[in-house]
Amino acid sequence: MRIIFLGPPGAGKGTQAQFICQDRNIPQISTGDMLRNAIAEGTKLGLEAQKIMERGELVSDDVILGLVRDRLRQPDCENGCLFDGFPRTVAQADGLNDANIAVDVVFELQLSDELIVRRISGRRVHEESGRIYHIEFNPPKVDHLDDVTWQPLVQRHDDSEAVVRARVEVYREQTAPLVDYYKNSGVRYFEIDGDATVDEIRNNIRERLIAAEV
Ligand code: ADP
Ligand code: ADP
Repeated sequence: MRIIFLGPPGAGKGTQAQFICQDRNIPQISTGDMLRNAIAEGTKLGLEAQKIMERGELVSDDVILGLVRDRLRQPDCENGCLFDGFPRTVAQADGLNDANIAVDVVFELQLSDELIVRRISGRRVHEESGRIYHIEFNPPKVDHLDDVTWQPLVQRHDDSEAVVRARVEVYREQTAPLVDYYKNSGVRYFEIDGDATVDEIRNNIRERLIAAEV
């Protein structure tokens, strides 16, 4: 089973991906996390990606497709995976097709521009684990600290308001065409209201996955 989470920044893809991957015991393939790991490791790819990400633009399709193809060769992807934030362009979706990597279900998480900015500006993350918090909507048990390790939470460099607005623009121009792409492709496609509570969205996605019998 392969699942795609599509949606603008802040829609809740990463938050929900963590639940579904645990439920279904499949890996979460977040190209954003993979790029941030490359930056942390100081690889050449990471250094190149960093400048692009800080501007809120997209890393090249070739680089992303290379990363994803390598990742899919790992044995933990045998029973499927959840793509979180990939594909982000029609060329990336075509790349999956060309490599015969079939997708079973697409969930589109929808959110208004106003809420996107509120969600992103309050987002805090635990870098090592990728656990996601929100200072207002999903605060940690102790301010600024991860619930599990008690290590400090950080704000992503690209989560400033100016960069978020650029990322939303990039989403509308380059990623939103994937809505029609997948709606017309015959895969099961579900629109999810991203302005519900974390638990409501989680249940909604779970029920649809069960109904879709995947
Ligand atoms: P969010 O889900 O909050 O938008 P991500 O962590 O998915 O953020 O992505 C952060 C940044 O990493 C993007 O703004 C972009 O620069 C880069 N990136 C992540 N995934 C892709 C992708 N599939 N194609 C191109 N760039 C990507
Ligand atoms: P994405 O991966 O789509 O960029 P995230 O899952 O990182 O989105 O969520 C963005 C921010 O919004 C995080 O701070 C997260 O804690 C918060 N968040 C996620 N889902 C909800 C929700 N349903 N209601 C309120 N806040 C949410």
